[in-house]
Amino acid sequence: MPSLIETTTKNDPKKITICGAGLVGCLAACYFAERDYEVTLYEYRSDIRNMKVVAGRSINMAMSVRGREGLKRIGAEESITSKGIEMYSRMLHDTKGNTQAVPYGKRSQCILSIDRRYLNELLLNEAEKYPNLTIEFSHKVKKCNTNTGEVVFENTLTGQEHHVKSDLVIGCDGAYSSVRQSLLKDKAVDFSQSYNCGYYLELQIPAKNGTFAMPPKHLHIWPRGDFMLIALPNQDYTFTCTLFMPLEMFEKIQTPEQAIDFFEKNFIDALKLMGNENFVQMYFATKPSSLVSITCNPHHGNKCVLFGDSAHAMVPFYGQGMNCGFEDVVVFFEILDSLGFDNIDKVLEKYSQTRVPDAHAICELAIRNYDEMKYLVTTRGYRLRKKLDSI
Ligand code: FAD
Repeated sequence: MPSLIETTTKNDPKKITICGAGLVGCLAACYFAERDYEVTLYEYRSDIRNMKVVAGRSINMAMSVRGREGLKRIGAEESITSKGIEMYSRMLHDTKGNTQAVPYGKRSQCILSIDRRYLNELLLNEAEKYPNLTIEFSHKVKKCNTNTGEVVFENTLTGQEHHVKSDLVIGCDGAYSSVRQSLLKDKAVDFSQSYNCGYYLELQIPAKNGTFAMPPKHLHIWPRGDFMLIALPNQDYTFTCTLFMPLEMFEKIQTPEQAIDFFEKNFIDALKLMGNENFVQMYFATKPSSLVSITCNPHHGNKCVLFGDSAHAMVPFYGQGMNCGFEDVVVFFEILDSLGFDNIDKVLEKYSQTRVPDAHAICELAIRNYDEMKYLVTTRGYRLRKKLDSI
């Protein structure tokens, strides 16, 4: 990594506004603060560290080498990985409950199952350690001028508006990013959004006799052609299961009997571990959520750059959304560290040139991996894969 001296701004601290204190926003904030920028991190929600329940997306997530690299550079890798559960293979479940493990790579290679909330809280704690970094919760981006670096926030507690001007605005406000929305108005940006990969619903397999009810060191998959169930282990010995299906299939299941019947036919072993009553309660407790895939090009404006889902929201089948967002930060700082903030125009230009093709590729891979997971991991798929491998 190049010396930080080139971008250190101690004598003339540049102001950085980061919108969104999710996983990627917090990491980006630490990288800027590390280099002595004057950083303010604005978050729509109140502080999740004080919440009983955090509403939102997946409870746990798979972290790969790509994501770990981002954490390593702020010295946070160890504290994260120590709370992760290694998953060395995909464990496939057939309709009778028979299982088969398919390793991800060599014996030592694995991905980690990490609790989303723990990861976000730890990154908030890391960010708070920097004296030159302020976090403002309950601040919602309303709009942004990506040419001047002015952002309008609404304090959601008081209803008051704040206008903030800075040298660079970082959009880390997720898939439905308001910063990106403003960028699309200010600049000719190619943008695409699709909802072609169905819906998802989260369920849980409880602990059994104080331990895991299934072997924990695997990502469990019940591939069923047009739909699938997956499960990742949690630190408290539970598994979070995610059911991925077309909306029409969800809509056909209206009663507890229909839900049980569907699970008995397709996921009998998982159903037994959940228990019928518990399963029905979980199944009907929430509505299925949609999955979106978003790409844009470029990822920057004159005084603005997008990281994470705001730049490239991907369907979760490759388990790379967060990982890729962390890599955005690493790549951006490699460029910034080598060119310096005085050349920010060139930094932004080079960042988009470097990152956009990779982001597009990984969004596409994520969509293709849906087929790999729900179909290609089945017997017919193995034959097809063998054929492909031999070409
Ligand atoms: P987010 O996590 O969405 O954070 C955005 C933040 O901005 C939030 O805190 C939000 O409150 C805030 N915000 C939003 N709007 C505003 C506003 N107007 N003003 C201010 N703040 C705002 N990725 C993986 O790498 N591995 C996985 O295994 C994995 N599993 C997944 C499973 C599912 C079911 C889903 C849906 C996604 C999964 N992902 C996974 C993707 C991952 O969740 C995202 O890529 C990741 O959360 C992106 O982080 P982010 O910080 O860019 O956005």
